[in-house]
Order: sequence, then structure tokens, then C-alpha cells
Amino acid sequence: MHNTPPPHNCNELITEISLLLDGELDRHSENILLEEIKKCATCTQYYSNHAAYKKHVSQKFTRMCCGDHIKEELKAKIRGL
Ligand SMILES: [Zn+2]
Repeated sequence: MHNTPPPHNCNELITEISLLLDGELDRHSENILLEEIKKCATCTQYYSNHAAYKKHVSQKFTRMCCGDHIKEELKAKIRGL
């Protein structure tokens, strides 16, 4: 393996990935970001770890609570703070 630097600032991308995982990005930004993630092993790793975790948590949450309706309400509340 050549020691090529990543095509971006991974810290910045990881911030974006957090937004993506929270569902804060629109479809267009999401696609751009996913392309960028694929270019970089560090970000791919981060994304897959956290995507699996979030999925796990949200499944649990949905089962315990009442699903999307409540989740949307919660999100709106959080945004309004
Ligand atoms: Zn990266």
C-alpha cells in the first residue's frame, strides 16, 4: 500500500457522517458524502461502525416506543431548543 493521504480532512468528514447518521442531511448531500466516504478507508470504517450502531439503537427504540411519529416529534423538539 502506498502511503497516500486521504482525499479530504477525515475529521470534517466524520462530522458530516454524524449528521448523515442522525438523518440531518438531504438526499443530495447524502449521496455526495457517501461517494466521499467510499474513497477513504478511515471514513468507511467510521461510517460502517456507526451505521450498525445507530441501526441497532433505532430498532430498539422503535420496539420500545411508538415509532416514526414520536421520533419526528422528538426531533422537532430538539431542533426547537
Ligand atoms: Zn476520510
